[in-house]
Amino acid sequence: MNFCNIIGLVFLAIAVTLVYSDPVRFDNYKVFSVIPHKQKDLEILNFFKKSQYDFWTDFKGLSKGVHIMVAPHQENEFVEILSRNGISFELYIENIQRLIDNEKLTRASSEFDFKNYHRISVINEYLGALAAKYSQVEVVIGGRSYEGRNITGVKVSYKKGNPIIVIEGGIHAREWIAPSTVLYLLTQLLTSTDKKVRHLAEDYDWHIFPSVNPDGYEYTHTKNRLWRKTRQPGKLCVGADANRNWDAHWAEAGASSSECSETYAGSKAFSEIETKTLSEYIEKISKDLHGYIAFHSYSQVLLIPYGHTIEHLDNYDDLLQIGKKAVKAVSQRYGTKYDVGSITEIMYPASGGSMDWVKAAFKVPITYTYELRDTGRHGFVLPPEQIIPTGEEILDSLVALFEEAENIGYKR
Ligand SMILES: [Zn+2]
Repeated sequence: MNFCNIIGLVFLAIAVTLVYSDPVRFDNYKVFSVIPHKQKDLEILNFFKKSQYDFWTDFKGLSKGVHIMVAPHQENEFVEILSRNGISFELYIENIQRLIDNEKLTRASSEFDFKNYHRISVINEYLGALAAKYSQVEVVIGGRSYEGRNITGVKVSYKKGNPIIVIEGGIHAREWIAPSTVLYLLTQLLTSTDKKVRHLAEDYDWHIFPSVNPDGYEYTHTKNRLWRKTRQPGKLCVGADANRNWDAHWAEAGASSSECSETYAGSKAFSEIETKTLSEYIEKISKDLHGYIAFHSYSQVLLIPYGHTIEHLDNYDDLLQIGKKAVKAVSQRYGTKYDVGSITEIMYPASGGSMDWVKAAFKVPITYTYELRDTGRHGFVLPPEQIIPTGEEILDSLVALFEEAENIGYKR
């Protein structure tokens, strides 16, 4: 090998390193809301799905918008197919990179606050600082990740014998408002002087995990803001959808068997170390488990089990009644409108989720999933100015939720 070849290889190596270490950019990537009116339109949506378009929301029924991310090189094809078939669509996000850049402008602080979205290390430091400051707070490890991170959380306990509520955030990595909202709720449980919040904080024990997919979450900060899955490599693609991987009618509905899909259910139930280890943690405290609340974004809906059937099972009627109070309370402060119903009724079939597993395995009475702000104008890239308002309205909602649960007999 001569000198020039060696120099060439060195440059190639540097170039490859640069390509693989730079974060993915989304310049001129758009999000369209496509509105299927006829059964035939679903075939077109399925074509886009098979062609690996990233569906930000899925099919929810005729005449309801489906949000699809479109790369610049796909745009002509996308618009042409829709136009030729007379399917209506609307531009929701013009340039995703611009939203990401705006989000970064305020992302300067290495100290935890509610003005920014933070890296996992900053979040974990904050949890440690709370445990150091409040004797009622203890850092707990809910499980492990593929890359060797802990699923770090806290237990908040003001007295012995309280029923347990588990709070889960961030199972989908790109839904940044979820961990932030969970951290806001935690902070309020410790600091609020409101009588109703104090009741909530002190008469229940809380096991709170802001980010249960820490590898994916870190990857959204360093490499790809729109990463959703875990980070365990498969044969072709990386990661599984951690909210399709639980042993609850695994891979029956709304999940893919294709490794490269955003909703890949994994090679088997609990193939992901994150879901496996977190499920073991939950099982250990299941005897006293009274509530399980998961946080996702986006869509502004409050979901009740189950995702595999349209049948109303277990205590659906009670959960609907409680949920109606909870969504009324969300809207009180800023007018943010939420819908409530079962996963299959108001979203789309999606089996293998954590909430469904907890409900079916342990008959936990109070089980909900919040899909937080917004309804698609920012989607997963919700401006950080909305962290505090989102936290405030969800705290209002949680207070109303457990108040109504107690009113209809779900005693502490
Ligand atoms: Zn999600």
